[in-house]
Amino acid sequence: MLAVKDLYVEYSGIRAVNGVTFSMDEGQFITLIGANGAGKSSIVKAITGLVKPKQGEIIFNDTNIEGRDSSVIIRQGISYCPEGRRIFATMTVEENLKIGAYLRKDKKKINDDLDKVYHYFPILKEKRNLPGGSLSGGQQQMLAVGRSLMSDPKLLLIDELTLGLAPIIIQDLAKILIELNQNGLAIILIEQNANVALKTANYGYVLETGNIILEDDTTELTDNDFIQKAYLGI
Ligand code: ATP
Repeated sequence: MLAVKDLYVEYSGIRAVNGVTFSMDEGQFITLIGANGAGKSSIVKAITGLVKPKQGEIIFNDTNIEGRDSSVIIRQGISYCPEGRRIFATMTVEENLKIGAYLRKDKKKINDDLDKVYHYFPILKEKRNLPGGSLSGGQQQMLAVGRSLMSDPKLLLIDELTLGLAPIIIQDLAKILIELNQNGLAIILIEQNANVALKTANYGYVLETGNIILEDDTTELTDNDFIQKAYLGI
């Protein structure tokens, strides 16, 4: 479904991603873990067209999307849930969700997907007429994920799901992501919280200073001595 080959990202000559290669199949759930600044966001931003790679190929369902505009990439079926949520505070929950469908025209399908989002996140239905800014942090993260689903993606990229959220909310969100994945959505989860990431995704890549230093099934990574010491605090 997705193949990233020899990807380089630089900012004013400073290298953030240093020749990264990985691929994923349809319906897979992978995670990129690594410390602050390891290059996780830069990889995902390159996939979604938010930064132009210095070099590399990004193939999505047989199309090279490297360097294409975000709108083209979203239409191909990739959606991005940004770090920091970026909710429109004065717009209602439902208006925020509908923004996620801004490239779509079929009202019936958009409404079906709105119902789907409300099925996964009933609290958003309950609060659909309230301003986005009135939601708690966890509810805003649900709104951000819900908004990303409104473009009807085949692949969802989530940048820092858990930042600043209480453990109970994180558990709820993780459960919903697993359910979405089981219903066919491919997911790439970027996390500084390796503990949550390795419990939620099926396959993981560990990034340090712009390089993948390790990859494996998340169950194997969880048992790995180096990962336990460096990332899980065991
Ligand atoms: P974080 O969790 O903080 O987002 P990350 O692993 O996602 O970390 P990136 O955000 O991809 O890492 O950053 C990788 C490197 O690129 C870091 O050294 C960062 O300072 C640098 N960087 C990221 N964005 C920019 C930018 N817009 N301009 C200049 N340097 C940047």
